[in-house]
Amino acid sequence: MIVRPDRPASVAIVGGGPGGLMTAYLLQKKSAVPLRIALYESSGRCGGKVMTPQFDSAPVRYEAGAAEFYDYSNCGAGSGAGCADDALKELIAELGLSVSPMGGQSVVMGERWLANLDDIESHFGLRVRQSLETFHGQARDRLSPWEFYCSGGMEATPVDRPGRSFESYLRQSIHGPQRKIVENLIHSDLATEPSATSVEYGLQNYLMNDPAYMRLYAIDGGNEQLIDRLRDRVAATFRLNEPVQEILPGAHGRFRVRSRPDGEPRESEYDFVIVAVPHDALGGIRFGGARLSVAMAAHRDRYDHPAHYLRITILFRRPFWRGIMVDSYCMLDRFGGCCLYDESSRSIEPGWGVLGWLLAGEQARQSAVVPDDVLIGQALDSLPRRLGNARKWFLEGRVHRWIGAVNAIPGGVAPRSLDRRHQVDPEVHSRLFVVGDYLFDATLNGVLDSADYVSDWVVAELH
Ligand SMILES: Cc1cc2nc3c(=O)[nH]c(=O)nc-3n(C[C@H](O)[C@H](O)[C@H](O)COP(=O)(O)OP(=O)(O)OC[C@H]3O[C@@H](n4cnc5c(N)ncnc54)[C@H](O)[C@@H]3O)c2cc1C
Repeated sequence: MIVRPDRPASVAIVGGGPGGLMTAYLLQKKSAVPLRIALYESSGRCGGKVMTPQFDSAPVRYEAGAAEFYDYSNCGAGSGAGCADDALKELIAELGLSVSPMGGQSVVMGERWLANLDDIESHFGLRVRQSLETFHGQARDRLSPWEFYCSGGMEATPVDRPGRSFESYLRQSIHGPQRKIVENLIHSDLATEPSATSVEYGLQNYLMNDPAYMRLYAIDGGNEQLIDRLRDRVAATFRLNEPVQEILPGAHGRFRVRSRPDGEPRESEYDFVIVAVPHDALGGIRFGGARLSVAMAAHRDRYDHPAHYLRITILFRRPFWRGIMVDSYCMLDRFGGCCLYDESSRSIEPGWGVLGWLLAGEQARQSAVVPDDVLIGQALDSLPRRLGNARKWFLEGRVHRWIGAVNAIPGGVAPRSLDRRHQVDPEVHSRLFVVGDYLFDATLNGVLDSADYVSDWVVAELH
């Protein structure tokens, strides 16, 4: 017997980001038998890409990674299929956190502020408006709100043939300035170029701007509170500053985990191993044994579609743009199409002004080598003139680079069954699992689905 009745089953979770913490939390919640969980985190903090740091010049926080949460709870209303479950929203409520909605519809092209279809018609003419309406209708026909909600799972209906790029779809469906508007609208959500992603992912990212499909919200007081609350509730041994370097098959189906706390090698054995690191960190871990290393290499190849972000966040003495920019964010045509967040609309610390530029895809990758002060200058210069004199109110700028940190075709080109996504070698190494947003939709909702799936499975094995 692999899991013995005389001692609690041991579980190593590799990665202390949202995925690792959610897995630990759910395992603990679902298991009726005691578990010994060790959570390895290579850095000195848990949270991974959910990060709410503070500026130096003033006690003002901002989001450096994941900015908003996706709310599917209205998805499917009126479809006859019932309303969707929203596991992430439920988890956030269960943890006692309050949330506020976020929203924004405007696209800024040069000095033209396009807040709605009427603005588009007045700047570009009726033909452009009609063409956008047709594009929208066609996109909705391909993917209904309910299909959108189900698109991460196996019951999903394919929206196009696998392998066709979103670029080719756009080329066939829309032209002229209307195409530029659509591209600007979605570039920062995609984190890649339309040529490097699928029709499915492109349409999902386009349709998420339609409130019938999804709404956005943020946690009051900063998104990192999700991490703090999870951490407080998880009874695991937290091994911070302890990168896992190697995972090897051990005796009786167990695994040996080799890590390096404070530069010193350490090896521990576990009944289960759950690798909850993002795709770009899988390559930093050696998987021992010929069979496991080949299986893991195939897994990495399957999901190898790197996408990029770079965030520039600037603190101002006051939110000088209010009155013109009223939403939580808008899309700018600068930096190849970026999202401009009014971070201070989250009211983390009222009075100050904070703007955040989310650069995506190729532009983010190329900008990653540019020094911070140059990027901050470019961001200040990118603002439409009508917003006011940004330099006059400037206090401090911060840059966070997330190169290769997200996925351009989450779920893979041809999605696999949920079982196969989460087990790289089910035949022989059935107690080694992977958890990741790259297996679903590259979001926190996706990583929670993944954690939920794996925790169900481990608990079923234990019972
Ligand atoms: C700029 C940006 C904006 C985003 N915006 C959104 C958004 O608006 N909404 C949304 O839902 N999602 C968003 N995301 C995606 C979201 O952040 C991810 O879905 C989520 O962080 C994935 O969680 P994870 O635990 O899988 O990975 P991560 O958050 O990357 O955490 C992984 C952890 O594993 C650790 N680790 C890596 N290798 C090892 C090792 N060998 N040993 C031990 N520990 C290791 C890392 O240090 C890290 O702490 C955004 C991401 C970025 C970068």
